[in-house]
Amino acid sequence: MRRLTAAAAVLSLSLLTGIGALAAEGQDTEGQNTEGQNIQDRNAESRNAAEQNLPGPAELLVGPASEMIAQQVIRIGEEVAAAAADPYRDRPDIDPDDWMYILANPWNDIGDYTPELVSLEGQQFDVRIAENMKAMAEAARAEGLSVVLSSGYRSYATQTYLFNRKVSQYGEAVAETIVARPGTSEHQTGLCCDITDRYYEMKDASLENTQMYKWMSEHCDEFGFIVRFPKGKEDVTGIIYEPWHFRYVGVEAATYIMEHDLTLEEFLALYRDEAGAE
Ligand SMILES: [Zn+2]
Repeated sequence: MRRLTAAAAVLSLSLLTGIGALAAEGQDTEGQNTEGQNIQDRNAESRNAAEQNLPGPAELLVGPASEMIAQQVIRIGEEVAAAAADPYRDRPDIDPDDWMYILANPWNDIGDYTPELVSLEGQQFDVRIAENMKAMAEAARAEGLSVVLSSGYRSYATQTYLFNRKVSQYGEAVAETIVARPGTSEHQTGLCCDITDRYYEMKDASLENTQMYKWMSEHCDEFGFIVRFPKGKEDVTGIIYEPWHFRYVGVEAATYIMEHDLTLEEFLALYRDEAGAE
């Protein structure tokens, strides 16, 4: 980061030096220099140029103009350096510790966190996102899509039951590749939902080919939701590609995350790096 900024500063300086030299020439012709002979020569040059209808050196660059250009060069230099150092500098001004960004993944155990819940279409959600979930489902249905809210909130106890059942069947090593350990499932936050099509309830990668998913992935951010486990980001999320799993993060963050093809982990890292933690 430091090296890029320094490079941009050198670039700005060398451009400025060039402009400074030109500006100094302009001043010479105005007689503000003691090199009399030189001034006369240049004035003669200017006159000759004027006779030929060509701009003399004084007309090419006068003081205020060169200053404007110099400032412009500095500004561009600073922008180039800032963009290179931080391509996400336009990220929204949010507090990463806000409730809507709570992170549950294989590396972040949320313990027995329990949100205040409300029921919607047979599922439970954090009461703070129910309105948005309902609005998204209704908007999709208005487009003729047969949306099913397939799985919302799951408690720590339910997750423990699911996990232990898999452990008894396959052993712990295999179990944790199939079911999230209790405390690490995003479903425990109450901020997400598995959304499928009534006529295509398969929860596998092929769901991405449905009209339902196409609409949902294009519009979810308008309601504050993101595709939480995108294709190609499995190493970042620790979870396979899940075109059915939508997570609430608020409209501002969702818009930014979907536009920049980020995961919630990557988005939050933008703020943690800033704070100097992790
Ligand atoms: Zn899910």
